[in-house]
Amino acid sequence: MSTLFRTLAELCEKLEGMRKRTSMISLVSEFLKSLEPDEIEPAVSMILGRALPKYSEQTLEVSWATLSEIIRRTTGVDWKVFTDAFSKTGDIGAATKMVFESSGVKRQISLFERVLTIKDVRKSFEAIANAVGPGSREKKERLLEALLSSASPLEAKYLVKIIIGEMRTGFHEGLMEQAVSEAFHVPLEVVQRASMILGDIGVVAATAKVEGKEGLLKVGFKVFRPVKLMLAQMANDVAEALKEHGGKTAFEYKLDGARVQIHKEGEVVKIFSRRLTDVTESLPEIVEAVRRNIKAESAILEGEVIAVNGRGHPLPFQHLMRRFKRVHEVEDVASTIPVKLFLFDILYLNGQSLIGFPYLQRRQILAENAGEIPLTKQIVTDSVEEAERFLKEATDAGHEGLMAKKIDSDYVPGIRGKRWLKIKPTLPPLDLVIVAAEYGYGKRHGWLSDYYLAARDAETGEFLTVGKTFKGLTDAEIVEMTKRLKELAIREEPRRIFVIPKIVVEVAYNEIQKSPKYQCGMALRFARITRIRDDKTPEEADTIQRVREIYESQFSKKGNIWLENRDKALKG
Ligand code: AMP
Repeated sequence: MSTLFRTLAELCEKLEGMRKRTSMISLVSEFLKSLEPDEIEPAVSMILGRALPKYSEQTLEVSWATLSEIIRRTTGVDWKVFTDAFSKTGDIGAATKMVFESSGVKRQISLFERVLTIKDVRKSFEAIANAVGPGSREKKERLLEALLSSASPLEAKYLVKIIIGEMRTGFHEGLMEQAVSEAFHVPLEVVQRASMILGDIGVVAATAKVEGKEGLLKVGFKVFRPVKLMLAQMANDVAEALKEHGGKTAFEYKLDGARVQIHKEGEVVKIFSRRLTDVTESLPEIVEAVRRNIKAESAILEGEVIAVNGRGHPLPFQHLMRRFKRVHEVEDVASTIPVKLFLFDILYLNGQSLIGFPYLQRRQILAENAGEIPLTKQIVTDSVEEAERFLKEATDAGHEGLMAKKIDSDYVPGIRGKRWLKIKPTLPPLDLVIVAAEYGYGKRHGWLSDYYLAARDAETGEFLTVGKTFKGLTDAEIVEMTKRLKELAIREEPRRIFVIPKIVVEVAYNEIQKSPKYQCGMALRFARITRIRDDKTPEEADTIQRVREIYESQFSKKGNIWLENRDKALKG
């Protein structure tokens, strides 16, 4: 018997009203026990607010603008019901439920009304995610409309919460691990370990149901099954990284290439990309180098592959990407775009997992087993000055910046934590103008706390958005800013207002990227407001031409080598 989505929605509604963790865990555990094996992963993902499994590379790509339009269409309700409910609760799901309730009889009961099961909902989500390319927006809309028109108010509440990825029941992944342990009588440590290796508690839960403790114990590193990557967070500068890591850390060159995870057993070598797809065929000379140099019988290694010119100098990332795209013409491209591997970690060696070893020890083992393959250049230091010199050395040599790795840290698969930090050289701050703002979530739900930042086009006078941020202002400043922006409103949407460009803010950021998101084709990464510039008028703010200049300087900064050699490399 297929389980109804309604049952899952009712469960979440109960969780939302509960405080006691042990009761929440028991409730979810009972629910998990009642499910069929193929319902477990989808149900676990949905309870955690994920439409698709964690390992999936896909996303729904549905904006709130689209979703709200469909709710409006499906219910035919005056939107004021939504905005009123939202300003009372600050919760999009709860407000959606009220809209569905007040639509009542007005809502056409479709002839084909179906009772939604958990599996139906997952299938719809997959179809929505699969709709890409021309006409995909319409297709996504049709699928969403079909889904929502078969939903009751309570189901709609949780469908919307899952779609926007904001469950807010307080039932997080850690509690889910406990529920899985309780439901299938498997010790919590066994669940946690499997969850770390597989990187998806949904899959772990399904394995626990079918194969029990034995099945989970078998989960281990297997050569040729890619392991989720450990990821890094951003640090603003080397001093912050040192502080975060307790005063001393391992700094390494951050190379601007492609992350590779290399698996070797006997003579067989496979290479996986950052997305864990098999790219072995694209990198024949790396396979060869690994065969020649790595003497271990079996190993899982990580490193970065960068494109280099004839003299071994690094080339921009785009060149490397050409290698991955042309699997069929590899030989041809290999001769024009040579690549080089630098190793930085080892996860597994001759049957033994090393991920629980402290980083410096793994690095030592790596050095002993790498043969002639170079490791990323590294220093271990507690000195800000030394770290700054090292950062300059890295960028002067044409690299992106530094990584800081906590010296006693495990390798933690699938986690973007603070044990690894990335540091890029700072770029000059920009004075930008706020042109629109969105309401925040949680305690900020009544405040305009997320700001669209624009630069002036010196040629047309138009303000063009280059970024968005909710970072940098204090609560008091946000309250004040909300008041000022409301007075400048030109157009209002339920969650967003557009304003007359008037308020100038100083913005720090880590990078300017090429991006189709905004009309100007560029976007600031990790933007944060550092000051409100009431002393400046919008006409005095920075121009889009200035933004472009900084964007371009990023490349020349990476080394004149880059520019110098780019054309040569392209010509072969
Ligand atoms: P980001 O992609 O900006 O999150 O930065 C993390 C990425 O930097 C990793 O996934 C690697 O591809 C890359 N990287 C470059 N050099 C290193 C290094 N020495 N250690 C770890 N990652 C590195």
